[in-house]
Amino acid sequence: MDGENRIILNVGGIRYETYKATLKKIPATRLSRLTEALANYDPILNEYFFDRHPGVFAQVLNYYRTGKLHYPTNVCGPLFEEELEFWGLDSNQVEPCCWSTYSIHRDTQVNNYIYIYPTLHHFINRLLKYLYDPLSPHRFGPIIYRT
Ligand SMILES: [Zn+2]
Repeated sequence: MDGENRIILNVGGIRYETYKATLKKIPATRLSRLTEALANYDPILNEYFFDRHPGVFAQVLNYYRTGKLHYPTNVCGPLFEEELEFWGLDSNQVEPCCWSTYSIHRDTQVNNYIYIYPTLHHFINRLLKYLYDPLSPHRFGPIIYRT
């Protein structure tokens, strides 16, 4: 029965539903080890309750579903890290598309090359695109003369 394979997670008052198999996708994490013996399990409602940030959890669950971890835009870096730590996940797994956002929102003590590099790379790319964009009124890239 499909119902037996499904699981309800109530995170901060928002109910998320997924397959038990989905939560096994990332081993050795809090969600991969859920059992009904845990205090978080409510046998009457047949759901697990966690008093954690529901917005971050949406991305956490998406990570289990897709294998890709994206950074939620509406939270700050330390909060994101705290939530990931609670769920037993590693913030270094954030997808490249979200590196720059994540490193900007991250704490200001950015002294780690891994975090500063994607931001710098992104910035240089933007700058080059801007300079060489023929439609840009401010361009000072190679000038092409018409004959
Ligand atoms: Zn992303």
